[in-house]
Amino acid sequence: MSRKTKERPKSTCDCVVVGGGLAGLVAACATAKAGLDVIHLAPAAPPDHRTSALMVPSVKILADLGLVDDPNALGEPLRKIRIIDATSRLVRAPEALFDSAEVNEQAFGWNFANAAMSTQFSQHVEALPNLNRLEASATGLTRVESGWMLALSDGRSIKTSLVVGADGKRSFVREAAGISINETRHKQSALVCDLKLSFPLNGESVEFHYENGPFTLVPAGGQRANLVWIEGVERLAEITALAPEAILAAIQERSQNLFGKLELETPAVVFPLSSFEADTMGKEGIVLVGESAHAFPPIGAQGLNLSLRDVAGLVGCVNKARLTRPDWATGVSKAYSGVRKADVRRTNMMVGGLFKSLLSGLLPAQALRAGGVWALKKLPPLRKSAFRLGMGPG
Ligand SMILES: Cc1cc2nc3c(=O)[nH]c(=O)nc-3n(C[C@H](O)[C@H](O)[C@H](O)COP(=O)(O)OP(=O)(O)OC[C@H]3O[C@@H](n4cnc5c(N)ncnc54)[C@H](O)[C@@H]3O)c2cc1C
Repeated sequence: MSRKTKERPKSTCDCVVVGGGLAGLVAACATAKAGLDVIHLAPAAPPDHRTSALMVPSVKILADLGLVDDPNALGEPLRKIRIIDATSRLVRAPEALFDSAEVNEQAFGWNFANAAMSTQFSQHVEALPNLNRLEASATGLTRVESGWMLALSDGRSIKTSLVVGADGKRSFVREAAGISINETRHKQSALVCDLKLSFPLNGESVEFHYENGPFTLVPAGGQRANLVWIEGVERLAEITALAPEAILAAIQERSQNLFGKLELETPAVVFPLSSFEADTMGKEGIVLVGESAHAFPPIGAQGLNLSLRDVAGLVGCVNKARLTRPDWATGVSKAYSGVRKADVRRTNMMVGGLFKSLLSGLLPAQALRAGGVWALKKLPPLRKSAFRLGMGPG
């Protein structure tokens, strides 16, 4: 194991991280900081217009890696969450407001623009001497003695011990490694855009629950808010085909005019939604992090939070590994698969259950949902446990 410099020609390394999204960037930084000699494959990708609510434990992971110094300088604190049952169902939940002060935190987390995180993390990663970034895709993956040979889109080949697949939902690494998923494609998509409201949200995220999914305004600083609107696939296709004024009118109507006259600050972008979990998180020197390993609808802001816990879990396994052994990477992938299984399962089940319960029009489900919100409103200990569950393990 040696810390090599950026000047050396790179055809071998300890670890290749495949994918330049947020999970890949953080994984590249974390494995390099754990002492591995890392190559990061980050091909040019379209700009990510989403924002991510990252909870306090996730922000701590980023702070420990030196990627975020002051979260208030990069994002907007999420201090309160308001839930409004906007359905016309027979049994409706009461309106509820949850405050992070109850769990002695200044905020549940922060809302960060993905593009701003990407820029900040990339600058940090550039400065690491044992990390090399290449603007190339992985196109081939072959097992070789005590490791893997990766073929790149620019014609190069790299031999490595550990491969970190952070290449998103349609992961090449996952497929090449023969790791299967059982994907459910949902009948809903998510529309995302930035809005200007007539007044600031002051750290309060407002979530309307409609029959086809939540319509959530997340504070983005000043009078700005990020909208995540989950709706039927066909309905969102109809809406995005409209002129900007008509799109805004549809959003205005769904917001129940509670925020005054709205302005559209960015074009509306739609993301198809699906759920899956990889049948293993790692094997034979290959590990999966982020959406290559798990995906679910953006309910309760869990996706990237879970991905950051993947990276923290991977670093824990690398730190415990005996890196002088020729098969250290196989050991890391096996240990990683073991340590990440329960958290991924638990989060997937929690989000899946919540999503189903929000969509179900059946009377028992309505009663359960309304009773659940009522109990959370009335019972502080239950509320605190729910907050801790939603914020994820520390
Ligand atoms: C509408 C919406 C709102 C969300 N809000 C939140 C939230 O509030 N909080 C939260 O925690 N999560 C949220 N999520 C989830 C979160 O955005 C994702 O979990 C996260 O962005 C996934 O990051 P990733 O790096 O795993 O994947 P991606 O961002 O998809 O990155 C994968 C990268 O791999 C690259 N790639 C693909 N193939 C190859 C290859 N062969 N070689 C090299 N590179 C390759 C791609 O170019 C891409 O850059 C939201 C998701 C959606 C859809």
